[in-house]
Amino acid sequence: MRDRTRSPRLLLVYCGGTFGMHETGDGLAAQTDLGDVLSGLVDAWARRHGHPVDWRLAVPRSVIDSAEATHGTALEIADLIRERVAEGISGGAVQAVVVVHGTDTLAHSAAQAAFALADLAIPIVFTGAQRPIGIPGSDAERNFDDAFREALSGEEPGVRLVFGGAAMPACRAVKRSSEAFDAFIARRPAARPVDGVGSELAEALAACAHAPAPRVGMLTMVPGLPAEMLGAALDAFPEGLVLECYGSGTGPLVGPAHLETLRRARDSGTPVLAITRCEDGAVDLPRYAVGAAIAAAGVIGGHDLTAEAAIAKLRALRRAGLAGAALRSALDRNLVGEQQRSGSAPER
Ligand code: ASP
Repeated sequence: MRDRTRSPRLLLVYCGGTFGMHETGDGLAAQTDLGDVLSGLVDAWARRHGHPVDWRLAVPRSVIDSAEATHGTALEIADLIRERVAEGISGGAVQAVVVVHGTDTLAHSAAQAAFALADLAIPIVFTGAQRPIGIPGSDAERNFDDAFREALSGEEPGVRLVFGGAAMPACRAVKRSSEAFDAFIARRPAARPVDGVGSELAEALAACAHAPAPRVGMLTMVPGLPAEMLGAALDAFPEGLVLECYGSGTGPLVGPAHLETLRRARDSGTPVLAITRCEDGAVDLPRYAVGAAIAAAGVIGGHDLTAEAAIAKLRALRRAGLAGAALRSALDRNLVGEQQRSGSAPER
């Protein structure tokens, strides 16, 4: 329980995105120095809510447009949060974190934080904006205000995304609109019960902070996908590949060249995780012979994970040192609310 006689201690992380962009003449670009603007927003929030906030600003090495994010960007943000939370504010523990981020990869970074920081028992709230702050009709102030309220009002820990008047678990969020103010939705209802990460994995997640980001990525299935493209994706992402599959986890992967490529990945230790492109339902590899064949070649069923959560979960677990059976078992568990079921037996 927070001591309400003291000002709440809040860490504010500014990563870039439209929220703080300005027009360059060649299009919108992220502003590096937004300290005064953010300070004004916090002061306004404190005035409106009648109590000061003891806050500190943290900024990653580069303030970017989401398009500039690399496979390491989301973990860099998570590591920065972990480091600053450990340092505390004014000699006291940080009670909440608000992260201002570009919307295009907001769900990726938020999902990454949900797994990489699963051992931190504080609210961490990601937000951004569709229109830059200061532009008439901008949604930046409202989203900032809502994120602050979400971060400071409840004691519920966990990583959430607040945008366009809605709050949702980060491990379920996807960007659904490039224009609307309600730009994000939570795909599929939150899973219950959550298995949690457990003490051993929590320790491993904390211990691997600042380790290099594993090269994990995704390939989307389309009819006629050449085996060479699958091979190239496995070369590009040797520490883990998510396959965004059709329906229950199938794809154009059953030719001899594709299956051989998958078997080679399994034998060389590259985990391959199948998720579904469908908005509803889950992966069930054994349902069809073609799914059973790719499972036999080593592909792991990814339940009903969103693409963002699948990449983030695999990346966080790889960085925590998990491989082989331990990795499969952790992928099967509902660690932070990212999937509706645990265990490998799907409901039929
Ligand atoms: N391109 C911007 C980004 O950095 C879009 C946004 O923030 O809304 O994600």
